[in-house]
Amino acid sequence: MSTKQTLSFQAEVAQLLHLVTHSLYSNQEIFLRELISNASDACDKLRFEGLNNSALFEDAPNLEVRVTFDKAAKTLTITDNGIGMSQQEAIDHLGTIAKSGTKDFMGRLSGDQKQDAQLIGQFGVGFYSGFIVADKITVESRRAGLTAEEGVRWISGGTGDFEVETITRAQRGTSIILHLRDDAEEYLNAWKLKQVIAKYSDHISLPILMEKEEWKDGELINPNDENGGRQPGGMVKTGEWETINKASALWTRPKKDITEEQYAEFYKTISHDHEAPLTWAHNRVEGNTEYTQLLYIPAKAPFDLWNRDKKAGVKLYVKRVFIMDDAEALMPTYLRFVKGVIDSADLPLNVSRELLQESRDVRAIREGSTKRVLSMLEDLAKHDKHDTAANADGVTDVVDADDKAKEGKYTQFYSEFGAVLKEGLGEDFGNRERLAKLLRFASTTSDAVTVGFADYKARMKEGQEAIYYITADTLAAAKNSPQLEVFKKKGIEVLLMTDRVDEWALNYLHEFDGTPLQSVAKGAVDLGTLQDEAEKKAAEEAAEAFKPVLAKLKEALKDKAEDVRVTTRLVDSPACLVVQDDGMSTQLARMLKQAGQQAPETKPVLEVNAEHALVKKLDGSVHFHDLAHILFDQALLAEGGLPEDPAAYVKRVNALLV
Ligand code: ADP
Repeated sequence: MSTKQTLSFQAEVAQLLHLVTHSLYSNQEIFLRELISNASDACDKLRFEGLNNSALFEDAPNLEVRVTFDKAAKTLTITDNGIGMSQQEAIDHLGTIAKSGTKDFMGRLSGDQKQDAQLIGQFGVGFYSGFIVADKITVESRRAGLTAEEGVRWISGGTGDFEVETITRAQRGTSIILHLRDDAEEYLNAWKLKQVIAKYSDHISLPILMEKEEWKDGELINPNDENGGRQPGGMVKTGEWETINKASALWTRPKKDITEEQYAEFYKTISHDHEAPLTWAHNRVEGNTEYTQLLYIPAKAPFDLWNRDKKAGVKLYVKRVFIMDDAEALMPTYLRFVKGVIDSADLPLNVSRELLQESRDVRAIREGSTKRVLSMLEDLAKHDKHDTAANADGVTDVVDADDKAKEGKYTQFYSEFGAVLKEGLGEDFGNRERLAKLLRFASTTSDAVTVGFADYKARMKEGQEAIYYITADTLAAAKNSPQLEVFKKKGIEVLLMTDRVDEWALNYLHEFDGTPLQSVAKGAVDLGTLQDEAEKKAAEEAAEAFKPVLAKLKEALKDKAEDVRVTTRLVDSPACLVVQDDGMSTQLARMLKQAGQQAPETKPVLEVNAEHALVKKLDGSVHFHDLAHILFDQALLAEGGLPEDPAAYVKRVNALLV
């Protein structure tokens, strides 16, 4: 069957291609990194499959990438002898995007070229980046293990469709033939190619080969120009090949031999991120389990960070042999933003995902790597001038140049990944205390999310026995919450928590360094010794006098409120809702319902301010029933909820207004 077939790209691919060709001009040369990275992945896959089936290596056991160009035809070709693709694989892999979250990503594109280019950078364009420099790409491939007659040719101009046909291809692996655009002819030059490859792909463990060229009748004009002073055009190929990269995996080299740029480039290759990482750690771990870890913390959150099924970012190697991407067993879910490589000396080469889950070595690696990431974060926090919590000890550290570079980084990290880190409270009990120290919040004294628990504790009032906090949907809602009134009046700081995970995460943290955490929206307020005797007495008297009204209120609201009680929590507001100490907050219950999940139907407690004019009016009022319901519904509105029957609420208010 060698008939040609024309097929359409999946809609998302067509859209992506349009973006690639229209927005990704600023950094053209990355296409080479992407294609060499794919070639390297293909060789890794062959090496892995070959572990159990050495016939796949055929008669070419040395895996490599060859880069060639043809000036006359204006083509640049990247050839690997890796796993290759069957016809169906070429159709599937080069015609569709299998990545999770693709639809979501497309939905986020704004049409603004600059912004979109940034987003695509995070998404990773891989193979399609070839269309940055080419107006047509031909792919010729044969999968290892298939016969020479089962090769495939794939051709596309990068718009709506592509062609595939069966070809005969003796060599296993893939050639990507780029038909360069006029504005990309600079890549038809060995010097330029070597320069770009050195920049982006030096750390690839695979040898990258180029054919040696020689000057023929080259005439010396200017010895200082890039061609060594020869007139261009006089180069001829010699038929000899040379390896143009270091061809040793970056993480296997000694730290002192690796520059910051090389670390950053390696990160970009494995993460497809276009930005340099925030920080990294490279270590050889010795002991019972031996492994090398090279772990990076990205500067920006990927678009699909919130997808908890998102693939983990750590690649597993065993003795330099690539085993698998996204080895979720190597990192806890709450650190899913970490990228990097772990190379183990102890795991068997044929390790499977299932086996990984059970391996004791893997558990040790995961624990070690988790601790490493936490220490990286602690280090950033310690050196972050903007971060008050880490510097709460009041000791000024000696600052060296390296420290200086870390300034502001923890704040940056936290704004991108802080909310994910909090998941760790519920996921990683062993490290809960370290995690708690890394958390930051806004508070009634700081809009910036820089207040840590230690920082808060250092500022606690004489006699204050708890760390107070409130959870709400937004910072404004938190700040204006009636539950804060008495705390404001007394000048007690309250942490303002506005991340969706806060409520859930805080379920797992009951105290910090011996001081209990107390939600100001849960249970009765007990300010303990912060309240003086006179205040306590006045409150008790008011409550006593209010008793008969309270009984009526309870009766009127028995379907809505679990209980009604008098509070000292409020200063300006007539009433607020709180939940029982062990109850789920109304905010969390609302969130669960919005997400279509089941939330227990618990009724809140209505707390009233017996000294408020509106509450005083209740006593003996002919509108008692309406007022009671208005009081309840308004308390609900004040915390961002909706009355159960909004129309009835409006009717009641209007009746009173007229
Ligand atoms: P990614 O590499 O992120 O999966 P790409 O768009 O770069 O996305 O490539 C899509 C798929 O095409 C790859 O996952 C792989 O299956 C296949 N592919 C690309 N280049 C090669 C190659 N040189 N050899 C074999 N398969 C390849």
